[in-house]
Amino acid sequence: MDVFTLFGANAIILLVMALGFLAAYARRRENWWPAWIAANLVLALALLLFITLPGERSWLIAIPNTLLAIGFGLRWRAAHLFTASPTGWMPVWLPACAVIGAFALPQAFGAGTVFALVNVILGAQASAIAWHFWRERAPASFSSHGLVAAYAVMALSFGMRVIEGIAFFDGLTTYFPLGGTLPFHLVIAVVHTSASGAFALSIAYERTALQMRDERDSAQRQAQDLGRLAERDALTGLLNRRAIEPRFAELRAVGFSALAVVDLDHFKRVNDAFGHLRGDEALRAVAAALAPDEDCLAARMGGEEFILLLRGDDARGRVEARRQAIARRVAADIPGLPGVVTASVGLVELPREGLANLAFAELYAAADRLLYDAKSGGRNRLIAERLSLFAAPAPRTSTEAA
Ligand code: GH3
Ligand code: MG
Ligand code: MG
Repeated sequence: MDVFTLFGANAIILLVMALGFLAAYARRRENWWPAWIAANLVLALALLLFITLPGERSWLIAIPNTLLAIGFGLRWRAAHLFTASPTGWMPVWLPACAVIGAFALPQAFGAGTVFALVNVILGAQASAIAWHFWRERAPASFSSHGLVAAYAVMALSFGMRVIEGIAFFDGLTTYFPLGGTLPFHLVIAVVHTSASGAFALSIAYERTALQMRDERDSAQRQAQDLGRLAERDALTGLLNRRAIEPRFAELRAVGFSALAVVDLDHFKRVNDAFGHLRGDEALRAVAAALAPDEDCLAARMGGEEFILLLRGDDARGRVEARRQAIARRVAADIPGLPGVVTASVGLVELPREGLANLAFAELYAAADRLLYDAKSGGRNRLIAERLSLFAAPAPRTSTEAA
């Protein structure tokens, strides 16, 4: 293929990639895209000038060569902006000045030397970018390895041109030799331009995908935290009704089959005599006495009323032990309370099998009726009932604290 077609192909790919970068920039205003876009525009202009300018005039052909150095400098900058590494403008202007300096060398050095020097500068720039992407590569990122390869191949091709300039272009009369390795160099450039553009887009896409995953994970964590907060009673730290009622069927399925409603006796008097703040402390002491564990969930239903949801043997004994612990714990935590803070409890035990469809509200109402009986029977006691699958309920049992 003719070298001018290859120059043109490179320029077109650069311009198309610049449009791709522009589209990415329109979606997310990340600061590296303007540098990538500018680099591609400058490089495309350089290649179009190579096609149109005569190669014998050193000062004219210095223009596209300087633009190449500026273009690679801008890509260096874009690469550093992308990885949030320190950047400046020196890597843009210094190589450009060096290229101008090479063309300003006295005639005695010859066009071959200028040619070699320019390729040293461009090769060093491509190597610096490859090195940067290598140092900053993400282990699992195919794109970051692709970028390293794209710039390394370009650097090698410039290296090949340096050797050519030194070894074969001794008596060179043009500053823009069309023969030698140029067609091969331009084919490498086509591969480089396509690959570096595509990988620049895909590495940015990978990062966006990772960021979106992180944002989604943190939003989920926040939602979970909020969900957990919403299921806790702020005063006592116990669960609340919302934590139990919607999950009641699941809890039944994993063996929770006894529900106790616990209500403090004459708690209004505690508040009246001792103040609401001490009353709150007493409620916290009650929560501690209820001692929830994995077989006994405790929730505050509101006010001075709690529930216990139990699985396993001897629910009645475990509830009664906790009921009695309330008075001891409140007395220990809040010394000087006038009188003992006792509690009444209504406990319903379900058969292990059957009554699976019983709604929480029905069970709660049954336990609440027993609690009412405990209150009217003199308070400070537990009344339990075992519901059966048959119509006639089992006899009630009552316990009064010693
Ligand atoms: P009973 O034995 O019949 O249950 O009598 P009681 O006084 O415990 O019952 P009542 O329902 O008449 O009053 C409940 C009291 O609980 C009223 C209020 O002073 C107190 N109370 C409810 N919620 C809170 C709370 O969040 N903090 C404090 N300190 N007191 C509360
Ligand atoms: Mg009460
Ligand atoms: Mg009450």
